[in-house]
Amino acid sequence: MFGRRVTLFKIFGFEIRLDASWIIIAILVTWSLAVAVFPNTYPGLSRSAYWWMGIAGALGFFGSIVVHELCHSLVANHYKLPMKGITLFIFGGVAEMGGEPQNPKVEFLMAIAGPVASIVLGLLFHAMRALGASWSPEVAGVLGYLGWINLVLAAFNLIPAFPLDGGRVLRAALWHFKGDLLQATSTASRMGSGFGILLMAFGVYRLLFGDPITAIWYFMIGMFLRGASQMSYEQVLLRNELTGEPVRRFMRPHPVTVSPEMPVRQLVDEYLYRYDYKVYPVVTAADELVGCVAAEDVRKLPKDEWDRHRVGELAKPCSATNTVSPDTDAMQALSKLQQAGGGSLLVTERNHLLAVVSPRDVINFLAAKLRMEGRSMPLPQARG
Ligand SMILES: [Zn+2]
Repeated sequence: MFGRRVTLFKIFGFEIRLDASWIIIAILVTWSLAVAVFPNTYPGLSRSAYWWMGIAGALGFFGSIVVHELCHSLVANHYKLPMKGITLFIFGGVAEMGGEPQNPKVEFLMAIAGPVASIVLGLLFHAMRALGASWSPEVAGVLGYLGWINLVLAAFNLIPAFPLDGGRVLRAALWHFKGDLLQATSTASRMGSGFGILLMAFGVYRLLFGDPITAIWYFMIGMFLRGASQMSYEQVLLRNELTGEPVRRFMRPHPVTVSPEMPVRQLVDEYLYRYDYKVYPVVTAADELVGCVAAEDVRKLPKDEWDRHRVGELAKPCSATNTVSPDTDAMQALSKLQQAGGGSLLVTERNHLLAVVSPRDVINFLAAKLRMEGRSMPLPQARG
């Protein structure tokens, strides 16, 4: 459900994207406003009036979230923190950062900017409603709703559950007073995870009382928060442990290679069935790396042509996307591995193949490093 994104528009250079899940929430918000909230608080209006109010309320809600996230982004931009954009998803928005803030002060200012914007917006909508004494009930209703929802948004985001804004404020405070970003993230994300479990438990409680719709919402938000808090901690941990560690320290030397003269049938019989790798480096007798042959390209070749072709004909030149130098930073190698979508990277030096590195090698290195420091992996089940 998460992950499908549509770019809506650009503002101040930030891309505003819409997660597919937001379409569901937009419909739900409009619907619940039009059939329940507005008819209950402003009885006696026509059905179409309630629907127009519902649509206006949902659009205002959507715009309020954009303003909230934009304020996070503007502060981040001010401190030269790279922003990837803003994605609106199931319970609000996420300003996507390309890195961690440099210090606790920046983290604090960035985190607090969103809730402050929501509080200001909330008060503005309430003031507009109070000042316009001659508003029709339709307009007053929508303004009242927007005033209320912005304050709810601020309150929810201020809960000290990382990665919610309040959790970031908590992390900034711990980071400031204890001086350890990793430790601060660990504590803040444990709070986030705990709050997620609490929401899920409340969902189960509502289910027992025959309220499945509320139960599903609480359960989903709780599950999302729990996952997000663990993932954020993992990212900080990865960056903390892998930055500055060259690939040389954990690369696997003596990789399996094939010669360009080898018939394709031999490649299949002696290599593909035995190793099941995605890519095989092609190395000449003079120990020169000439390219890579992908198992997928071999599969595309009809069986009866296996004897007539040689590996060298199927090989593709190695590119910057699948090679690294032994001095490449482990964190950089990991993001390259993620972009490559699995498989391995070739570690090369002046056209010679030194070793290969797979995601598993990075993870094993990380696990070994953490063990040496007397710590454990945060999410063993996600590692396969
Ligand atoms: Zn926020």
